[in-house]
Amino acid sequence: MQKPDIRNCTDEEMKQFLISINEKPFRAKQIHEWLWKKNVHSFEEMINIPKLLTEQLNAHFTFHTSIIDQEASSEDGTIKFIFRLFDQQLIEGVLIPSGKRVTACISSQVGCPLKCDFCATGTMGFTRNLHFWEIMDQFSLMNQRSIESFGNHITNFVFMGMGEPLLNYDQVTKAINILTSPQGNGISPSRITLSTVGLVKGIRKLADEQFKANLAISIHVANDQKRNQLIPTNLSNPLAELQAALKYYVDKTDQRITIEYVLIDHVNDSLEDAENLCRFCKSFPVKINLIQYNATDSKYRKSSIENTKAFIQHLESRNLIVNLRQSRGQDIAAACGQLVKNSKKR
Ligand code: SAH
Repeated sequence: MQKPDIRNCTDEEMKQFLISINEKPFRAKQIHEWLWKKNVHSFEEMINIPKLLTEQLNAHFTFHTSIIDQEASSEDGTIKFIFRLFDQQLIEGVLIPSGKRVTACISSQVGCPLKCDFCATGTMGFTRNLHFWEIMDQFSLMNQRSIESFGNHITNFVFMGMGEPLLNYDQVTKAINILTSPQGNGISPSRITLSTVGLVKGIRKLADEQFKANLAISIHVANDQKRNQLIPTNLSNPLAELQAALKYYVDKTDQRITIEYVLIDHVNDSLEDAENLCRFCKSFPVKINLIQYNATDSKYRKSSIENTKAFIQHLESRNLIVNLRQSRGQDIAAACGQLVKNSKKR
């Protein structure tokens, strides 16, 4: 029989296990610390645990550890990673240094079922959801590399790797809880961003649960007809319903929404598109991140400088806060899904 991963064990289950082998239940707290504060991946590293207990833990549990399978550094400092999971599946993560900040871009699923037309992950199909401990492994493996390469821990987290986090709601929010809990990594929720395509049900659930991290919505175009083409899930999550869910979210959490908008040449970069975006954003506080399209081998191209400037000017004339995000790691194909896709081609 396969041994279960110890990280699936709740604290209560661990206490019960310890009692069943005549061990002291307070060891559960020590084990918790090793797992979630120090992020170790073996029982031998738990140096305050007696040898006999280490042997018993080894006999009953295992670690389904992920490893770094490939790594590539960009001229701009960005490092991309392909992780190999215990069942040989591949996912990707990216470390993006910027001054004192190091942002980790993390995956939530193996592949993605959403099939957004411009996204490399979309063409790859969906394999499975990640366990919360596979999300944590991305953090601990990249954190080590961040310290080695940049002399600093990861400071910020964005769920903008492969997958749709709200389709893996429980595991993603569990990982965020461990990252932010004082008994875990103690990271401020303001340093974590969950990016979603805009799934209405999931957004309302986050609101009801008083989600503390930042919420970013990948709008990319604010007209239903066009959005249905780019993002098929818009058919079941139309803009009016998404707008209502975001208003509900803001009312419940008192937080500002980040709007992500990838500018694609002649697809969503006209002044009419900009005006549609203004209308979409009018009923709640937002910050808009315009992102240059990172051309994959799809049919789309990034917007011209002129169109980008005009788009920004239009939003600013409506008093919206706009940032233009340079696409990082272009020389190493660091856009969503590109890494694993290229690696499979090889
Ligand atoms: N499913 C989530 C998170 C994954 S993708 C979401 O949709 O938000 C993270 C962001 O990268 C999304 O905004 C996505 O639309 C964008 N993206 C995907 N492919 C891209 C590309 N080639 N260039 C620029 N951004 C891209």
